[in-house]
Amino acid sequence: MQRILIANRGEIAVRIARACADAGYQSIAVYSDQDFGSMHTRVADEAYALNGDTAATSYLDIERILDVAERSKADAIHPGYGFISESADFSRAVEEAGITFIGPTADTLEQLGDKVTARKIAATVGAPLVPGIDRPLKDAREAYDFAAEFGLPVAIKAAFGGGGRGLKIVRRMEEVVEAFESATREAVAAFGRGECYIEKFIDRPRHIEAQIIGDGQGNVVVIGDRDCSMQRRNQKLIEEAPAPDLGAELRKRIHDAAKDIGTAVKYRGAGTVEFLLGEDSQTSFLEVNTRLQVEHPVTEMVTGVDLVAEQFRIAEGRGLSVADTPEPDGHAFEFRINAEDPGRGFLPSPGKITTLQGPGGPGVRWDAGVQSGDHVVEAFDSMIAKLVVFGDSRQHALTRSRRALAEIEVEGVATVIPFDKMVLEHKAFTASPVQTYTQWIEEELLPELPSAPRSNLVSEPQLERVYVEIDGRRVEIRLPDNVLAGVLSTDRVAISTPPQSPYEDTDKAALRSPVSGSLARQLVTDGARVSKGEPVAVCEAMKTETTIYAHKDGTLSWVIEENGSIKVDEALAKIGD
Ligand code: ADP
Ligand code: ADP
Ligand code: MG
Repeated sequence: MQRILIANRGEIAVRIARACADAGYQSIAVYSDQDFGSMHTRVADEAYALNGDTAATSYLDIERILDVAERSKADAIHPGYGFISESADFSRAVEEAGITFIGPTADTLEQLGDKVTARKIAATVGAPLVPGIDRPLKDAREAYDFAAEFGLPVAIKAAFGGGGRGLKIVRRMEEVVEAFESATREAVAAFGRGECYIEKFIDRPRHIEAQIIGDGQGNVVVIGDRDCSMQRRNQKLIEEAPAPDLGAELRKRIHDAAKDIGTAVKYRGAGTVEFLLGEDSQTSFLEVNTRLQVEHPVTEMVTGVDLVAEQFRIAEGRGLSVADTPEPDGHAFEFRINAEDPGRGFLPSPGKITTLQGPGGPGVRWDAGVQSGDHVVEAFDSMIAKLVVFGDSRQHALTRSRRALAEIEVEGVATVIPFDKMVLEHKAFTASPVQTYTQWIEEELLPELPSAPRSNLVSEPQLERVYVEIDGRRVEIRLPDNVLAGVLSTDRVAISTPPQSPYEDTDKAALRSPVSGSLARQLVTDGARVSKGEPVAVCEAMKTETTIYAHKDGTLSWVIEENGSIKVDEALAKIGD
C-alpha cells in the first residue's frame, strides 16, 4: 500500500490522514460539495470532489468513490466509521477493483452486519445473551406473543440498524403494535431494510464493549474494554477505558466472548463487540461493529496500541503487533464534542464556527474535524471533535478532564460542553462504583440542563481561505473576507436566536415539538381527552422518529396537520384544561 483513499469526512478522515502521514503513506481525501475546503481535505495530501451534496450522492455512493480511487491511483481504501464502512457490497467492490479494503471481508460484513445472524453466531460460541428471537419478526403479532411469553419491557430492533436508530422500547402491551410499525418504518427510511427482531429489554444497563483485532487467519486479540453508558437517544456521548468496576470475572467473560465471536468468523481488521450489563450482572451480547469505533482513542491511550496503524498492518498481511491482551495503564475518557444544544434536547446546531480553540497540555488529545471558520454542515453528523483525556487513575483523569474542558473555546454554534461539565460534577458519574446507566442522561440529567447561550457572529476583516475546484481537484487561494463578503453575503448575517428553555413556557397549553422536521402521525383525534404522559404524536426529523407525549391532562386540539412541517419549539397542538 502506498496511496490510501479515505472514504469519509470530518474528524475520522483527519485521524486516518494523520495515521497515513505517520506511517509514510500518501492520503487521498474525497469531499461532498459542502465539505469543499473542510479540514479533512486540507490535512490529506490530495482531495477529490464527489460532486454531490447529500450523503447518498457523496460518501454513500460506492461508484463515485471507486471512480475517484481509480483516477487518483489509490491502492487501498480506508472507510472510517459510519457511511459505507460496514457495507459488504463496498468491501467486495473495492477488492474486485484490485484495491485493498482496510477492513473485514465482505463475507464477515454480511454475517455480522445482520444483527440477527450476529446473535446466532454469539449463541453458537456460548456468549451471554438475554432471551430474544433469532430470526426477523414476521408481524406485530409475533412481537406481541414474545412480550406476552417473556414479559415486559422488550426492545424491538432493526436487524440492519446502527447509530442508535431503529430501536424501540416497549413498556406497555398496548404499545407493541405501534412500536413494531414505527421501528420498521424507521429502519426502511434509514437503512433501506425493514427487518426487525425482538429481545428482552435490560433495565438500567451499562454498555460495555471489547476492542478486538484479528489477522483474518483466526488469530484474534482483545485490546481491552470500554464503558459507553453515557448515551442519549441510544448514541454515545462520553466513553472511557478501561470499563470501571467490572471485576476480574465479568471482564474475563466479556473478553472471552468477544475473542470467541471474532475467532468464529476469522475476523480481519479492527472491530468491537458490544454488550449490555444489567444491574444484577446479567450480561447480553448486543452486536459487533465491524469497523474502527468512534471511541477507539480511549483504548489507544491506556494500551499504547495505535489501532489505525494496526489496521494498516493487517491490511498488508503483516499480522498483529500484539500477541495478548495488554494490561491497561491508567484511565482515559472521551467526550464527543457535538454541535448540539443540550438544553433543547440535544438539538443539532449547524452554522459557522467563528472561534474554535482546542485544549492542550499533558494527557490531552484533541481529535477535531473542524477549525475556526469551518461550518457544521446540516446534512451530516453534528460531531465536530473528540476530547480524549488520560490520567493515572479514573480520579486523575476526571480532574484533568475538567481542566481540559474549561480550556476549550467555541463560538458560533452551541455544543454539548456545558453538559459535559455538569456530568463531571455529578456523583453518579464520579463515584466509585459508578451509578450511571444507558438512560441516565435522559432520565436524570436532562431535566436539569440549561439552554446554551449563542453568541453573535463577529465580522472583523481577516484573511480567509477560499477554495476553487479545477478539474475536480481542490486548490486553495486566500482573500480578505471583506472582499468575499459581497460574494458570500448570506454567511455574514448575524444570528441572534434568543435561547428559549422549553421548561419556561409562557403558553402552558402548547405542546411543543422538540425537533425540526415533520409531524409524521397524529395518534389521537382532534378534541380527544388525553392524560399526561400519553403518546399523542410521532415527529420525524433527520430520518428518526420521536414519539411526543402529552405534557398535561386535558382536551387536545391540533395546530399542525399530519405530514405538516414543524420547527423546533413550535406548538404541535394545544391541550386545554
Ligand atoms: P460507535 O459505536 O462507534 O460509537 P455509532 O453507533 O455512534 O458508533 O456510529 C458511529 C457513527 O456512524 C455515527 O456518526 C453514526 O451517526 C454513524 N452511523 C452508524 N451507523 C450508520 C449507518 N448505518 N448509516 C449511516 N451512518 C451510521
Ligand atoms: P446500534 O447499532 O444502534 O448501536 P445496539 O444494538 O448496539 O444498536 O444498541 C444501541 C443501544 O441501545 C445500546 O447501547 C443500549 O443503550 C440500547 N439497547 C439496545 N438493546 C437493548 C436491550 N435489549 N436492552 C436495553 N437497552 C438496549
Ligand atoms: Mg451499537
